[in-house]
Amino acid sequence: MTPLSAAAPADLPARGPASPPPAAAGPGFALRIAALPAAALVGGAQLRATLTPVGLDAVALRVGELAEQRGDGVFESISVVDGHAQELRAHLERLAFSARRCELPAPHLAQWEEAVAVALAHLPAQGEFGLRLVLERDPGRPAWLVATRAADSSAVRARGVRAVTLDRGFDSAAAARAPWLLIGAKTLSYAVNMAALREARRRGADEAIFVTSDGLVLEGATSSLIVRIGGEHVTPAPTAGVLQGTTQQSLFGHLERTGRRTATRGIRVASLARADAAWLVSSIRGVVPLTAIDGRELEIDVALTSELHAYLRSPRD
Ligand code: PLP
Repeated sequence: MTPLSAAAPADLPARGPASPPPAAAGPGFALRIAALPAAALVGGAQLRATLTPVGLDAVALRVGELAEQRGDGVFESISVVDGHAQELRAHLERLAFSARRCELPAPHLAQWEEAVAVALAHLPAQGEFGLRLVLERDPGRPAWLVATRAADSSAVRARGVRAVTLDRGFDSAAAARAPWLLIGAKTLSYAVNMAALREARRRGADEAIFVTSDGLVLEGATSSLIVRIGGEHVTPAPTAGVLQGTTQQSLFGHLERTGRRTATRGIRVASLARADAAWLVSSIRGVVPLTAIDGRELEIDVALTSELHAYLRSPRD
């Protein structure tokens, strides 16, 4: 890989003593990206010149950065396992989908692929990392790639989590009826998702499962839901109002290839009572078994959870 120029200074003066530097948790890497229009015919060195390495603790936002302050942008979180970015294509396609839904300029996918390649070349060859790609609305402002070490989720995977269902506040037709709600886009605004986790904890659980006001199951606050009902692995249809999960789709491919039944359809909250196993799945944390939903206990299928975890750690494109 052609080496990039040395880390460029941030485009703002150094922080004063009033703002302590955020700790960079172990090795990491960040790029400031001069986002290209999707149709730009740029390659090679010209493309790499749009990517500037910055320190993980660089001061990078300007006072009055509206996109950040409003959460008016989109992002992706991609898992890196031993130097491989998992499901990169699916993540970039979803970034483009989210940008379309938010009426942001379409991302230049080759530029993002290059940014990911540069990040991978700078990360340790072993270990698990998360890549965060951020595209915001303010014209002329950069996009970002931030790579940091992934938190260790082995304990939560072994122990499982308890979940409660929480009303998401819209019905299952809202996504089609009211596209301005941006349902299904991965926007920077996760305040509602974080509030749902706090509410779940107040109710004595670890996680929230969103449900529509007309009684359909949606997703976790930061994950997709897979439930096993009558031997079939089921996930809610995206049309009901979920972010289409790359991990869930990849896992369904694995389940189907290994002879298990899968289905993507509406799931009524009442039918969760018939589930004999369930998982919350997402890119960075992987597959986490549910041990209870709304107080009803569930067994962990240890063998299948381990198999799915091993699959998620294998290189996936
Ligand atoms: N649903 C929501 C609301 C999420 O925030 C996430 C991941 O962050 C997911 C689903 C799972 O998506 P993925 O598997 O692509 O990480």
